[in-house]
Amino acid sequence: MPKCEPRKVLAIDFDSTLAHVVEFPDEMSCTYVNLLVHRYVRWKKKQGWTIILNTLREPDKGLPQALKFCELYEIPIDYVNANLPEEIAVWGDSRKIAATRTLDDTQIGIVGWLLRRLG
Ligand SMILES: [Mg+2]
Repeated sequence: MPKCEPRKVLAIDFDSTLAHVVEFPDEMSCTYVNLLVHRYVRWKKKQGWTIILNTLREPDKGLPQALKFCELYEIPIDYVNANLPEEIAVWGDSRKIAATRTLDDTQIGIVGWLLRRLG
């Protein structure tokens, strides 16, 4: 019986990575999609990767709006702040998201720098 390859996972941050949120003084906000990240996520999904939204947002603090945003821009999210079942089976329900690659504006190096410059 052939051994299954582990799934490839892209963990993606929301604020200042997938989306730029501009806050106005009257607490209204406007959100723009980062087209470069948007295309990268959709390309990885087409390659068969699993996409995990890895965000500080919680159900009562902006998460529904982030998920609606992803739906609006057809950003394929498989899991939200959760590891794959096969990772949980091995490691338990860890707070850290196990991923093949991560995309976050806080990253060091050229990718993080670029995301911060665009934001
Ligand atoms: Mg961020």
